[in-house]
Amino acid sequence: MKARIDFHIHSCLSPCASLEMSPRAIVARAQAARLDCIALTDHGCTKNLPAMHEACAEAGMACLYGIEATSAEEVHVLCLFDQLQPALEFGDWIYDSLLNFPNVPERFGEQPIINVDEEILGFADKLLFAAGSLSFFDLVDAVLEAGALCIPSHIDRSYSGAISQLGFLPDLPYSALEVVGSRIPEEAKKWPVVRFSDAHELKHIGRCFTEVDTESFSTEHLRTALAKLGKNKKK
Ligand SMILES: [Zn+2]
Ligand SMILES: [Zn+2]
Repeated sequence: MKARIDFHIHSCLSPCASLEMSPRAIVARAQAARLDCIALTDHGCTKNLPAMHEACAEAGMACLYGIEATSAEEVHVLCLFDQLQPALEFGDWIYDSLLNFPNVPERFGEQPIINVDEEILGFADKLLFAAGSLSFFDLVDAVLEAGALCIPSHIDRSYSGAISQLGFLPDLPYSALEVVGSRIPEEAKKWPVVRFSDAHELKHIGRCFTEVDTESFSTEHLRTALAKLGKNKKK
């Protein structure tokens, strides 16, 4: 089946995202934008995934369970699971690896953990977009080892992407690379390229997505579908 996917969306838990980004509002907007499968990928924490899971289930929206992890070199990496529980466990491990830098809400923004009814259950204490303690290589290894899709974020952006932070793109078995510019960087041409919204506000959802031909939304089938994108790509 042909499907429109957007696997890079932030909820209100990310300090830089709008507080309007509740799971139900995200799902409603994604359906209005005719997306077929979405993923919540908050910085450094997966505590809003249970609410997202419920919001997607009640609306009949397919989803993956993600996190945007930050390496020690401040490279962002999308880590995407097709089951909630392993994503939560991986998320706790990533959160533990974050530098112990407390959030200052007045300066960086609130980090509310909410349920599907938008009731606040608590707040993440550490600043979620702080760097982690894992190197980029160890992080990519851990994501793939966990059976998740590994997609380095906005690799061509001037900050927080692999090329800006490392100076080059290491030759590793990524599931795909997220690109934001109109031109695909020469060094990225070896991998499938995806474009996602990186939505921090509701109006961003749908501005960018990728179309894949996939049997299902399991990570196994998606890995195959993403690899096909690579083959069809113009050299
Ligand atoms: Zn990012
Ligand atoms: Zn992001």
